[in-house]
Amino acid sequence: MKHADLPPLPIGSVYGPSACATVQLYLAVLEDVSPEQAQLVFEHIKSCAQCRAELRLLRQVARCSGGWRLAWSGGFSSGCC
Ligand SMILES: [Zn+2]
Repeated sequence: MKHADLPPLPIGSVYGPSACATVQLYLAVLEDVSPEQAQLVFEHIKSCAQCRAELRLLRQVARCSGGWRLAWSGGFSSGCC
């Protein structure tokens, strides 16, 4: 699945609510974005506590339903935790 309709990622030291909103959109579809886009996402996350917290939350949900890949390909499973 492609996500060509996503807004462009903030590049370099662009921070603020709109940059974070964009990064968090990409976090939700991280399996489908290009390596270059993922790189930009993680560059942002390294220096943004808010997006780091968001990623941690997403990963907790993924782990809880049986793994990152499974969580995103199959939706959130029922009976989680
Ligand atoms: Zn951020």
